[in-house]
Amino acid sequence: MSTPDCLFCRIVAGEIPATVVRETATTLAFRDIDPKAPVHVLVIPKEHYADVATLGQGDPALAGEVLATAAAVAEDEGLLGDGFRLLFNTGAYGGQEVFHAHAHLLGGAPLGPMLARSVA
Ligand code: AMP
Ligand code: ZN
Repeated sequence: MSTPDCLFCRIVAGEIPATVVRETATTLAFRDIDPKAPVHVLVIPKEHYADVATLGQGDPALAGEVLATAAAVAEDEGLLGDGFRLLFNTGAYGGQEVFHAHAHLLGGAPLGPMLARSVA
């Protein structure tokens, strides 16, 4: 199922170009257009889910396939030795801007603390 005005659905449909690094039957991984680390790849389910909460509850197997693709890209990009960060921004507090579930795979340099500042 695709949502016509969704940016990432349009990338899946080939209507907007992206630098794809891995594709499976159900997932797509492409480089972030505004990278925040030497490696910054977005990993998405091809099917539209607004965020990781609806994806994880709606289709846990597909969520697992997103993780498997992220792990394969991490290996391809040489991140397994030094490590990496995998995160899903979700909703307003999470700072989500594109409402098609996506994992950010970040690595290639020390990434610093999990948050820029503590909000506890
Ligand atoms: P988020 O804030 O978690 O929703 O992240 C959205 C991400 O999508 C940001 O890191 C953007 O840089 C990235 N982005 C936006 N448009 C594109 C695009 N056309 N191709 C690749 N990445 C994009
Ligand atoms: Zn979408």
